[in-house]
Amino acid sequence: MATDHYAVLGVERKADADEIKRAYRRLTLQFHPDRHPDDPAAQERFRQINQAYDVLGDPRKRARYDTQSRLGSGLDLAGVQPGQSPRDLLQNVFGDVFRSRRRGRRRGRDLRYTLTISLEDAVRGGTHDIAFEALGPCETCEGSGTKPGGKPPTTCGVCGGRGEVKGDGLFAPWTRCGRCDGTGLLQADACKTCRGSGKHRRTRSFTVSLPPGVESGAQKVLEGQGEPGRFQGEAGDLKVTVRVRPDPFLERRGTELRCELFVSLTEAALGARVEVPTVDGPVEVEIPAGIRSGTKLRLRGKGIPAKQGRGDQIVQVSVETPRTGDPNLTATLRELEERGALASALPQRAAQRAAFADRKKA
Ligand SMILES: [Zn+2]
Ligand SMILES: [Zn+2]
Repeated sequence: MATDHYAVLGVERKADADEIKRAYRRLTLQFHPDRHPDDPAAQERFRQINQAYDVLGDPRKRARYDTQSRLGSGLDLAGVQPGQSPRDLLQNVFGDVFRSRRRGRRRGRDLRYTLTISLEDAVRGGTHDIAFEALGPCETCEGSGTKPGGKPPTTCGVCGGRGEVKGDGLFAPWTRCGRCDGTGLLQADACKTCRGSGKHRRTRSFTVSLPPGVESGAQKVLEGQGEPGRFQGEAGDLKVTVRVRPDPFLERRGTELRCELFVSLTEAALGARVEVPTVDGPVEVEIPAGIRSGTKLRLRGKGIPAKQGRGDQIVQVSVETPRTGDPNLTATLRELEERGALASALPQRAAQRAAFADRKKA
């Protein structure tokens, strides 16, 4: 017996069938998986609620459960529980005394949001306005859950304000009270807008400010901007995870931005001016005549802002060799080859070929 079915439904042991059914309906609405798609704890509660109702909603199963609970208490008193240490025994016997009270105020849950930004925005930093559907404080009762001018919350009768209920018997487990949801308090005059929860689902808007150079995966915490707490408990936080959209051209490496710039054979030979994107807009890059493929050019201060100034953008120049397929292009290239211009224009190649020939002779 892992949990006490009565406590799960938040009803007393003498509750009649109607009370049990009402409690079941209320709780299944509250913990339905459709309303908590990403909350395993709520899904587990839903499972427990159904398990409890499966037994308590059926008079014959309920009678058997009650008998078993009583028998269980008899066995417990005999003290034959193999595998239990004296400490467990003491905890079970004196559990009532030692158990801390966790009632009343409860902190609200954290909200999570993924903010996707461009590389430019990541470099610049600045503020972003975001809005999404989430639970926020109820406007009618300002988050208290109590009807304006209504009576203050009262102690839960099922758990006596403890928030938990112990089943029959010495070793019976403690189960969170389903009537007050473990808070030990009940709204005497529940606010009609939020039904006493103090929270209400709506579109919530926030402004997130990001530092210049923010990295993908960075987390920004907006304290107290999460879901409101229960019974005046403090609100949770809003945790914003930053995701920087990959840029098709620029790649971040530490404080540098790297890119590969393709140039033609003739651009590499004759030199050229090519417009290259940077996070600050396009910049004209001077390709010096006779550049070697793989050469890295440095655009100072076009990288990521850092403590010691801004990083650079590294432009790696790659010569794209023409693919012959066009007969005119092939003819032009053959002409270039035959003219022998290559031998004097490519001194390294010429020297290397000569060295190869000497090697063969030796
Ligand atoms: Zn309200
Ligand atoms: Zn209770």
